[in-house]
Amino acid sequence: MSSKRIALITGANKGIGLETVRQLAQAGMTALIGAREAARGEAAAAQLKKEGLDVRFIQLDVTDEASIASAAAKIEKDFGKLDVLVNNAGIGAPESLPSTAKMADIRAVFDVNVFGLIAVTQAMLPLMKKSEAGRIVNLTSILGSIGEHRDPASPIYGMLYMAYNASKAALNMFTANLSHELRETKIKVNAAHPGWVKTDLGGEAAPLETPEGAWTSVYLATLPAEGPSGGFYHKTVHMRW
Ligand code: NAP
Repeated sequence: MSSKRIALITGANKGIGLETVRQLAQAGMTALIGAREAARGEAAAAQLKKEGLDVRFIQLDVTDEASIASAAAKIEKDFGKLDVLVNNAGIGAPESLPSTAKMADIRAVFDVNVFGLIAVTQAMLPLMKKSEAGRIVNLTSILGSIGEHRDPASPIYGMLYMAYNASKAALNMFTANLSHELRETKIKVNAAHPGWVKTDLGGEAAPLETPEGAWTSVYLATLPAEGPSGGFYHKTVHMRW
């Protein structure tokens, strides 16, 4: 079994995921770049290897059961354990009013953001149970907060990206329930709101660059033994559910 800490980041060929890989590798981990498309994943790995970082590409489409199973088998064979899982892969949807959103669009978002995230987590849990300090980080959003949507003073009041918002609310519940199930283990499970970050998903108008956008994921991936589990954080601040 590897003595270094091993981290898997999904959707890591660009955006917040790529920066999370960089920062976890800079912190001394072996960071696995989960990417669904080999050319994009290899290119991301080559870029970070030039910076002297211990990173590797691993093929992982979170909507493909066979891809998930072979990624888990490869991590088992190469490292014998997994210490950190950052469920970062996510997609948006066009503005989707609850009354008219297309079922195909809603399903597509849930396939990646919810079912994919749950499937990857379930497949990796046996490996995480072999870690001395397992950390699972689920990328959510302030847009998944029901409390914020019901508050006229909230900055996201009226942002009716229903498919995306509902997907993030669902993964928040998965986070809360999984942390409870694992409460007697060494595995912590938390949800991270990265802030509004300049990426292909966040768009050009976003105020944060990716190094700051990765901060919450890295913080939750490196929590000490006395750190929290079952929370919903932006930086060190607990968000409203
Ligand atoms: P991004 O730049 O669009 O990156 C998304 C990543 O997810 C890409 O690597 C993409 O791969 C990957 N992905 C999509 N479908 C996948 C699948 N089926 N299997 C594996 N990977 C898949 O987005 P980002 O802004 O960095 O977002 C990262 C996370 O933060 C998401 O969960 C998002 O919801 C969350 N978030 C972002 C913001 C923001 O302001 N940016 C705010 C709140 C929350 P391809 O390149 O192959 O498409």
